[in-house]
Amino acid sequence: MFGGTFDPIHLGHLHLIKEISNKFEKVLVIPAGAPWLKDNPPLANSEQRFQMADLAVTSMGLAEKVEVLPIEIRKAGSSYTIDTVEDLKQIYPEANFTLVIGSDAALHLDKWHRSADLLKLVKILVVKRPATPPSDFEEISIKALDISSTKVRKSISNRENVSSLLPPKVVTFIREYGLYGSR
Ligand code: ATP
Ligand code: MG
Repeated sequence: MFGGTFDPIHLGHLHLIKEISNKFEKVLVIPAGAPWLKDNPPLANSEQRFQMADLAVTSMGLAEKVEVLPIEIRKAGSSYTIDTVEDLKQIYPEANFTLVIGSDAALHLDKWHRSADLLKLVKILVVKRPATPPSDFEEISIKALDISSTKVRKSISNRENVSSLLPPKVVTFIREYGLYGSR
């Protein structure tokens, strides 16, 4: 499982998704509905964030092993990972779940809703991001790209070229909907 706001999904996320798709049977990418730990609400709506993630995964040829699930965005109110895991356990009763998170997210995992229950249900795997301290969890030995959605949004509003940060289909989608000040 790999969740996030994905406002928008970028090549840093996709690099990680591709790497973990080689290590696991299936990767579930889960855009968050209303992210309750973020300081600012997302700029793109949840349906747009889902569509960008789906477009990105398909256009990069990852769809065979990677599925983008609308499970959180179709739910009213806050998205809690524990609720999602409990739902997924019903759908895939035989599966062992691993939750992949960046080291920035791992820093405040103890503040997540029912974090103790969550840790009993899933294994946590952390990918180290630049400029964040290491975590106590198991780390994946892949190199995270120095890209964040914050950086992408800034570049777009500054009218910079973002082709090294986003898949072309996502750039087109953003322009079409005028997201992040692109219009
Ligand atoms: P923002 O700047 O808006 O916070 P973000 O780039 O951190 O965006 P999120 O949607 O907040 O993206 O992150 C979803 C998950 O992806 C988190 O676990 C985060 O740590 C991880 N992540 C984000 N960017 C990268 C990256 N470049 N490499 C690996 N993991 C990443
Ligand atoms: Mg983030």
